[in-house]
Amino acid sequence: MLKIKDLYAGFEGKDILQGINLEVKAGEVHAIMGPNGSGKSTLASVVAGKEEYEVSRGYITFENEDISELDPEERAHKGIFLSFQYPVEIPGVSVTNFIKTAINETRKSKKMDDMPASEMLKMIKEKADMLEIDRKFLSRSLNEGFSGGEKKRNEIFQMAMLEPKLAILDETDSGLDIDALKVVANGVNKLKSKDNAVVVITHYQRLLDYIVPDFVHVLMNGRIVKSGTKELAYELEEKGYDWIKEELV
Ligand code: ADP
Ligand code: MG
Ligand code: MG
Repeated sequence: MLKIKDLYAGFEGKDILQGINLEVKAGEVHAIMGPNGSGKSTLASVVAGKEEYEVSRGYITFENEDISELDPEERAHKGIFLSFQYPVEIPGVSVTNFIKTAINETRKSKKMDDMPASEMLKMIKEKADMLEIDRKFLSRSLNEGFSGGEKKRNEIFQMAMLEPKLAILDETDSGLDIDALKVVANGVNKLKSKDNAVVVITHYQRLLDYIVPDFVHVLMNGRIVKSGTKELAYELEEKGYDWIKEELV
């Protein structure tokens, strides 16, 4: 599904990513861990196509298509979802209206008509129930006065509604209490299928108790320096990152 080959990317002529190779297949859950500043968010942003980042070498393909030239909206329409993609507060636009627009934009990009209102409503109800989201929450203004947990809930709701092929969740556990963490994990686990893939970027092992990854990668100084199974996450929790640095010397 996603192939990243020898990727060097960053901004203002400075490469933060220093030769990333990663392949994510349908049905897989990958965790990317690593110390602060190692380039995790940069990697997520480059895959999502954020404009401020530049690729200087290598390439990214999604479903065997080079996506380098696509803007973030086009990538989203192809089924790539990045959490925190819409962190803006939009007073007067409700959670529901925002997602309706996003869904119909995606359909338009595929030359499909708007989703019929009744179908949309049914889907909203189903997904909200599945994620245990209060109906009142759906009519609130987007991100206005949202707590950290509510922002996460909204993101997971957006993800559930958009049904992406590839979901990239960046540090969804930062600032989350254990209940909100479970909401996120539960949402991801319910949406997981053999046809989609999830990349969870996290600083902490904690989230991986709930979202069990098939593969764990350690990012350091813009490179994936170690890959393994979920056991690697436990090892990192126990020993930190220094032992990997030492191994590299
Ligand atoms: P992580 O998510 O692993 O903590 P980041 O990808 O956010 O790491 O950051 C990697 C490096 O790139 C850091 O040194 C950070 O300071 C720098 N960086 C990230 N975003 C920007 C930006 N928009 N402008 C300048 N430097 C940035
Ligand atoms: Mg960081
Ligand atoms: Mg980050």
